[in-house]
Order: sequence, then structure tokens, then C-alpha cells
Amino acid sequence: MKSSKADLSIQQVKGVGPQRTRLLAKLGIATIRDALAYLPFRYEDRSHLISVGELRPGNVATVMGKVAACNILRRRGKKFSIFDATLHDGGSYLTVKWFNQPFMQKHVALGRTMVVYGMVKENTRGIPPLEMENPEYELLIDDADSQIHTNRVVPVYRITEGISQKQFRKIMFTLVQEHAAAMEDPVPLHITVRNGLPGLGETLCELHFPENAGNIVELNSGRSRYHRRLAFDEFFFLAMGLAVFKKSGHREKGISFCPAGGLRRDLLKLLPFTLTAAQQRVMEQIDRDMRQPYPMNRLLQGDVGCGKTVVAFAAMLDAVECGYQAALMAPTETLAEQHYLNIRGMIEMFGLSGDLRTGGSGARGKERTGECTSDIIVGTHALIQERLTFRKLGLVVIDEQHKFGVMQRALLRKKGVHPDVLIMTATPIPRSLALTLYGDLDCSVISELPPGRKGIATAWVEADRKDEIFAVLKQEISRGRQAYVVYPAIEESETAGLRSVTRGHEAFQRKFPEYRIGMLHGRMRPEEREQIMERFRMREIDILVSTTVIEVGVDVPNATVMLIVHAERFGLSQLHQLRGRVGRGVDSSRCILIAYPPVSEDARRRLNVMIQTNDGFRIAEEDLKLRGAGEFLGTRQAGLPDLKNADLIRDAAILDTARQEASDLIAHDERLLKYSFLKQRLDVFWKEKMDIFNTG
Ligand code: ADP
Ligand code: MG
Repeated sequence: MKSSKADLSIQQVKGVGPQRTRLLAKLGIATIRDALAYLPFRYEDRSHLISVGELRPGNVATVMGKVAACNILRRRGKKFSIFDATLHDGGSYLTVKWFNQPFMQKHVALGRTMVVYGMVKENTRGIPPLEMENPEYELLIDDADSQIHTNRVVPVYRITEGISQKQFRKIMFTLVQEHAAAMEDPVPLHITVRNGLPGLGETLCELHFPENAGNIVELNSGRSRYHRRLAFDEFFFLAMGLAVFKKSGHREKGISFCPAGGLRRDLLKLLPFTLTAAQQRVMEQIDRDMRQPYPMNRLLQGDVGCGKTVVAFAAMLDAVECGYQAALMAPTETLAEQHYLNIRGMIEMFGLSGDLRTGGSGARGKERTGECTSDIIVGTHALIQERLTFRKLGLVVIDEQHKFGVMQRALLRKKGVHPDVLIMTATPIPRSLALTLYGDLDCSVISELPPGRKGIATAWVEADRKDEIFAVLKQEISRGRQAYVVYPAIEESETAGLRSVTRGHEAFQRKFPEYRIGMLHGRMRPEEREQIMERFRMREIDILVSTTVIEVGVDVPNATVMLIVHAERFGLSQLHQLRGRVGRGVDSSRCILIAYPPVSEDARRRLNVMIQTNDGFRIAEEDLKLRGAGEFLGTRQAGLPDLKNADLIRDAAILDTARQEASDLIAHDERLLKYSFLKQRLDVFWKEKMDIFNTG
């Protein structure tokens, strides 16, 4: 790798000796490049400071003044102290106070000029002067500094103990002056120009010491054109890596399945329904992938209940027909058990062998280590335990993608001879996001629900309308239907004030002695849970009182009521998943959300979205907005580089552009022969994540 000045140690910079080098290392700064990438976390407009006389209580403001008086007050021995100083700016006075920081008296001396930043308050007597408590502050020394620390939009950095804001800023100033403009730009010029983006050098200068960067509000919200440039860079690097990875992945040798299709035909004959057009289309896509001599990497998206499982099962049968094993991996034990129960009958009917492997007890007498020899294996994360091996793993189906990271996928892939991978998700990921985060995957969408679904009427009711709720339950059960009741907790004690499954179970038994009430939660033994689910499926249970263990995948079409207790406590996607447990048959279904006060503003928004729409994509978008991307994706997008500057929501439009540019560039110059510096920077960006240029 060719090295440039930017890769030199930070110690080369004026004002940085060995001690500061150690301090800066704590901030992740080792080289000049690191330092330039270390952006201010906020900016202060000191180009026209307001005067003390203009301050109003409640303002958060920066003012400058000379120290006209100072005083330290100690109470109760040495434990408590207040240091205060009076600042005078020629017009008015301001009191600034620091609590329990007696050392302040060493810094703040009479006659010194100070800049303070903080919240303005009235003093306890309600008369002037106004006050600031524990403000951020800087003491100004000489005139040369005034260029850097005042009379401009001033950067404020996160610093570490042992170095002051001012010292840090001064180092950065030197650094930016000497190195920023000369930074080599990894993004090809035609791309920045085409998108109206400023060059890297200018961007770094402006983001550290803004001259033309426009207004302070834009700067502070990360929306200046220079921030946009850096957001573009991150998305572009992300998209480039995924594009390269995807291309090289296709060159990896995989299994070329050539199923005769007999098993699949038998399956389709057995089904009590015909596949929807969307299911058929997706099945053909999968079929085509599996025949290719490269590993399949396909993401199958579709709203809850759209019928993904049967499509996946057909693919598994294809693999088995060709002499390979097929594994189905689910995020919870309950779901793995469900899947297994659903397909066990068919597995036997086809004369195949099946196996359930979950992380729970080995109560089924199965060793959790050793070799899996069955044709079809269903399980949880236990499937990717290192100690488990497969005879001849050909296809891996992963259900509910959002709980699995890229790394886990890679782990599983290692267990076979580059098996084909199909990932199913019922939490539709907003389009732009899916393409970026899973850009190495091909995407299929089942866009329609099976015909004849009546939809689910959703209502949000207050807890005091219990009678109406009970009436609904009675009505449905008297028509032979079944109901779920979901609670947020297993026992009362564990989360103060929350209604729980165990209490709820008792309450329902008392309220409806004539009905059969079942209970299901994660602390029950797997066999017990399996038994309860089996009885629910066989209609031996009318009301199933449960925790969110039934959140994903459970499929009992005769259930038509979903009652969610403490709906205000659940996230939006979770509510949608739970609701998706009903509305699976030909009868119309109902989802009742009971909220207990206090219902926060956010909870209100979630509940409103739930009653407004059944559309999984809209719900996913709303959820993303409400929760932010990191949390939305659960495992912090395991396996992908962190985004430092870009925000998936704020910068969504930039993401689209960056992805487009990346795929164009890759299409023209796959190995980046003409862009060696970009290639070098990409390697660094993706280091430890994947060796993107060496897979092919
Ligand atoms: P999900 O996409 O949520 O995994 P499932 O695969 O569990 O959905 O399917 C939901 C229900 O719809 C199941 O009971 C399944 O048997 C049924 N189903 C699947 N495809 C069809 C179809 N084409 N017509 C009617 N019912 C279907
Ligand atoms: Mg499912």
C-alpha cells in the first residue's frame, strides 16, 4: 500500500509531543488522517456573539466577557463548594457558577477574558444578573488565538481529560491549515462533480473551521453540504464494498442443483391451496439460483402470512432430492418447533428423515454435538454451533432475517460446501435500506397475500372497556374460533406494575371457567411448549395466554382474535408481527390493543400507525423513523462497517445516489484498476469485515 503524508503519525504535527500523542490515541487518533476525520460534534457561532445584555432566561448561548470578580464558597467542610465569577462585557454582568470544582479558581483570574456557553437562568432572587451553571468555558490568552477561538464559527470537539478544548482546537487548526487541502480524494472527480459535491480538501477545511459552510443550524444538524459530502462517502464506500463482494461471491464455486422436481410436485399436490402468482414467481427465481454453479444468496421478503414457508420448503425438497441436506434456521425455539411440526408429517410422507435441533435441553435424547445426518434439519442458533457438523449441507434457509447478522450467515456457510442460502424476512426492510445493507443479496418479494383473506380489524381500547373485549372473545369462541392473549411479562414481580402471563392466565380461567385456557412462555420446557402449541392447533385450547414467544411464525389459521395487553409497551414491528398471528384463515379477524396509562407520545404514535395500516412496508418505515436505524436493525447490522457521518434516515436520498454511482463504477471497472487510491481506501474501510478484493 502506498503511504501518503496523511498516514504519518499525529506526532508530526506542531504542538503534539509524545504525551499528547498518547492522549489523542484515546480518541482514536493515531495519524493525520484520523485527526482530520475527527469532526467537531457541534459548532458555536462566535462570529457575532450576542452581548450579555441580550441574554434571556432559557437561552442556550455563548457570550464573552472579562472576569470582574470571583469568589469561592465552601460548605460542610470540603465536600461542597461553589466557585462563581462575574463576567462583564462592557455593558452588563453575568454570574457563572461551577459546583464542586474548586480548582476553577486556579484557572479563572481577575481581568481574564472568557467565553462561556450554557443555559441562561435567573438567579434565585429573580433579579439581575442572570446566571449560568457549570457552563462550558474557554479562557482566551493572546490575539493570535482570536483567529481560532473567536470571531468565527468555532468547532467544539469531544475531548479527553488532559487536554483542553482550546488546546485541541489549536492543534486541529494547525493540522487543517497544513494538511486538509492536500488530502487525496478517493472518490473519482467525475462522481463528485456530477453530484454537485465539494472536494474532500475543501470539505475537511469547512467542517473543522467553517468559512462558507452556511448557517450554524445546518452545521449543527449535520446537514451542511460538507456533511452531505461525507455522508455520501460512507454510503459510497459501503455500496462499493457490497457491490464488489456480490460480484466476487458469484464467482465462488457452489452447488449446481438439478432436481427432477418430483418431490416438489408431490408437495404442491398435497397442499390444500394453489400458490399465488407471487409465490410462483419467487419459486422460479429460487429455482434458477439453485441451478447456477454459484452459491445462492437470496433475501425473500414478504409480509407476515404471505406464505414464504411453503416456498422455502419446496426449495428444501429440491436440495434433498439432489442428495443434499437442507437446514432451516429460526430465531426462537418456539418457531423452530413450529416449523418442524408443520413439516414433520410431510417429511415422513416423502420417506425422508428429519431432525429438530434447538439450543434447549437435549430432552429428545439428541446429542447437540456431532454430525447431523438427516435430510432436513430444523433448528435455532444451535445449528451454527461450531461443534455441529453436517454430512452434506446444500441449502440453508434462515427465517426472520433481522435477527441474524451477516457474520452468522458466513459461519453457517462455512459448514457446507458453500451451500445455497435463502433468507426469509417478515419485517420488510425499507427498500433503500435493504438494498444497501443486504446489497450482496438478491431480493425477492412476495407482494400479495393468499386470496380470500378477510383482513384484520384493529382497535385500540382503553383498559376500562374490558366488558366489550370479553364480549368479543365470547362471540368468537362461541363460533368455534380461538384467541391469543399476549402479555409483556411472565410474572408480576419482575417488572413492577406490568400485567403478566401467569396472573392473566388465572384471571381468564376465573372469567371464563367454561373455556379451555392455555399458557405459553419462554421459561417452559420445550416439550411443554410444543405440547401446548399442538393442543392449540388441534383446537383443544380456546384462549392461549402467552408472552411474545408466539411473535413470529406461529401459524394457526383458526385463531381470529389477538388481544395485546400493555400494547403501549411493544415496538411497532413487534405489534405488527403479533397481529400477523391472526388473519391467516378465511374468517375475518380482530386485533385488540389494550393500553394502560401512562401512554407516552411515542406509544400513541405506534398505536395510531397500527390502527391506520396493515401494510408491513409502511409499518417498517414508520418503525425506522420512530426508533432510528441502529435499533431497528437489532444486531447493529452485525458485520458491516459502522457509519460515523451518515444517517440512514436523514441522508436517505444520498444513499440512493451513492448506491447508483457505486454500481455504475463497478460496472465499468470491476477491479478498480483505474482507481487505485479508492481501492486502497476501500480495503481500509472494510478491514476485518471482509477481504473484499480477495474473494474472487
Ligand atoms: P409467512 O410468510 O408469514 O411465513 P406462512 O408461510 O406461515 O406465512 O403462511 C401463512 C399461512 O398461509 C399458512 O397457513 C399457509 O399454509 C397459508 N398459505 C400459504 N400459501 C398460501 C396460498 N397460496 N393460498 C392459501 N393459503 C396459503
Ligand atoms: Mg413465517
